[in-house]
Amino acid sequence: MPSAVELYIINRFLNIEGMKVIDYRIIENIGIFVSLKNTSSETICQKCGKKTEFILHQNNFILIRDLPFGEYQVYLKVNRRLLQCSHCEKRFSEDLEFVRERRRHTKRFVNKIVEEVLNSDIKNVAKRNDVSEQEIETFLKDLGRELVEEKPRDLNKLGIDEIAVVKGQKNYYVVLVDLEKKKVIGLVEKRKEEKIIEYLKNWGEEILSNIKEVSIDLWKSYKSIAAQLMPQASVVVDRFHVMKQVTDELDAARRKIKRETEQIKNKSEKETILNGLKNSKYVLLKNQEDLNKSEQEKLKELQGVAPILTEMHALKEELRNLFESCKDWGNGLLTIADWLKGVSKYFPKSFGTIKRWIGEVIAYFDERTTQGVVEGINNKLKLIKRRGYGFRNFENFRLRSFLTWHFIS
Ligand SMILES: [Zn+2]
Repeated sequence: MPSAVELYIINRFLNIEGMKVIDYRIIENIGIFVSLKNTSSETICQKCGKKTEFILHQNNFILIRDLPFGEYQVYLKVNRRLLQCSHCEKRFSEDLEFVRERRRHTKRFVNKIVEEVLNSDIKNVAKRNDVSEQEIETFLKDLGRELVEEKPRDLNKLGIDEIAVVKGQKNYYVVLVDLEKKKVIGLVEKRKEEKIIEYLKNWGEEILSNIKEVSIDLWKSYKSIAAQLMPQASVVVDRFHVMKQVTDELDAARRKIKRETEQIKNKSEKETILNGLKNSKYVLLKNQEDLNKSEQEKLKELQGVAPILTEMHALKEELRNLFESCKDWGNGLLTIADWLKGVSKYFPKSFGTIKRWIGEVIAYFDERTTQGVVEGINNKLKLIKRRGYGFRNFENFRLRSFLTWHFIS
C-alpha cells in the first residue's frame, strides 16, 4: 500500500474536487492507475432535481482517462455509483463533475485534445495522443453542444453584425457579439428578423432585460428587434457603418463623373479630366492624415478637374473628425446637425440615412460604442469558414466557431 504522504501528493497533483486518492499503481508500458473515492455525501437527484440523501443501489467501477503525467498515461478508477433517490425513489447513476455522463475521458482531457485539434487536424492529434479519430469527433460534439447551448453571462453590450456565407452573395449569417468580452455569443443561420428574434428569445428575459446597449449597422430590422426584445437598451448605429455609407456614396460619385466624362466630345478636355480622375479612388477614400505626398498632390490635381469630389472628400473627413472629437451627446447632436446642413446636395443618400437614424447615430456619443472588435471577430470567422475543416454545413461552422472562442478567452 502506498503511504499516506504519497497519496496526499498524488491527490494534490490530480486536484479533482470532491474526490480523494485511495490507491495507485504504476504499470510499465501502460500507465498510472489511480483509484479515487467520492467524498461528497449528498448529491442532486438526476430525476427530480432535489438535493437528496440517497441509497446506494449498485457499485459501478469505471476507468476514466485523464491528462498524461510525464511519459505515463493516467487512468482514474472511479466508482460511478447507481443511486436511488430517497425522495422520488427513482434510480440514477451519479453525476461526476469532472467527466461527462457515459464518457470515459475527463473533461480536462477532452479540452486539451479539442484545443489541439483547433490548431492542427484530427488525424495528427489522434496519433499523438493515442486516441481514436472517432473519439475525437465525440469530444468535439460533446463540448461544442454544451457551448452552443450555453447562454451569455453578464452581457451589457450586444453587437449585431453579419458575415457573408459566400463572398459576394447576399446570404448572411448573423453574428452576435459580446462587445465587452470581444466574443462571439451567437450565430444565426439566416438574416431574417423572425429567426434572429427566435434565437434571442431563447436566451430568456433575464439576459435580454439586462442589456444596456445594442450596436447595429443600418438595417432597420435590427432596430426593430432591439425595440421589441430590449426596449430598455440604447440602440447605437456603428459609426464605421455610417462612414462606410458616406465613402460608398463618394466613390459612386467618382464613378459617375468618370462615366460622364467618357461621353465628352472634346478630346483634349476629356483627356485632361480623365487624367485627373485616374488613380483617385483611394486618395478620396483614405483618411486625410494617411495620404502621402504624391497622394496629396493627386487631391490637388483633382480639385482642378472635379471640384465636387474634393468638396465631398472634405465633408467626409469632417464627419469622420467629428465622430472622433465630439465629447458628449449634446455637442455631437449640434455638430452633426451643422454638418447635415451642407450635405444634402453632395450626399443625398447618406443625408437621408443619417436623418432617419439620427437618434441611433447620436447615441454613439454617450458610450462611444463601436463594432471595432467585430471586424477582428469577423476576420476570424471568415478564416474558420474558409478553412472548412471538412465542415460543410452551418451547424458545424457554428460549433467550430464556439469552440474557437471558448479557447481564446
Ligand atoms: Zn429524486
